[in-house]
Amino acid sequence: MKPRMLPWAVENEGTHNFNEEDLTAGWSHKSIAFVAGLGTFGVNRMLITPAGCAGRFGSMVISAEIPPTPRPGREFCRYYNGGKCLYCVTNCPTGALQVDGLDKQTCYRRLLEVAGQFTDLGLCDVCSKCALGPCATGPA
Ligand code: SF4
Ligand code: SF4
Repeated sequence: MKPRMLPWAVENEGTHNFNEEDLTAGWSHKSIAFVAGLGTFGVNRMLITPAGCAGRFGSMVISAEIPPTPRPGREFCRYYNGGKCLYCVTNCPTGALQVDGLDKQTCYRRLLEVAGQFTDLGLCDVCSKCALGPCATGPA
């Protein structure tokens, strides 16, 4: 069957497509990557793939029937795999990231603080200290 593009999928922004009040998103590229079997979630709430977590996903929904990618047979996060890592939690400058939760509002305030320091570069609402651990470039 010939794949057919969904018109609303084409219009979806690649980034900054979230509600800035409650920090929810109607369309999560990361969640779609998980559903597609690309990796497992780490303590840092990022999806760790065989290439690591320090990347960015894009997604597109089509109607073609494609054989599913086999899911990873194990956790890619060292902590969830029985290790003692927690680099991400230790290096979060705000305390927003904990093993049992992520305070998205605190995290987002930090991103906006950084953006305020680099206004000459355009919108730089970034931090990502939690993405620089051993899972940045590969699984445990
Ligand atoms: S830094 Fe360590 S504990 Fe945190 S997500 Fe990566 S592997 Fe897991
Ligand atoms: S982006 Fe920065 S503030 Fe937010 S959870 Fe990661 S390390 Fe913490």
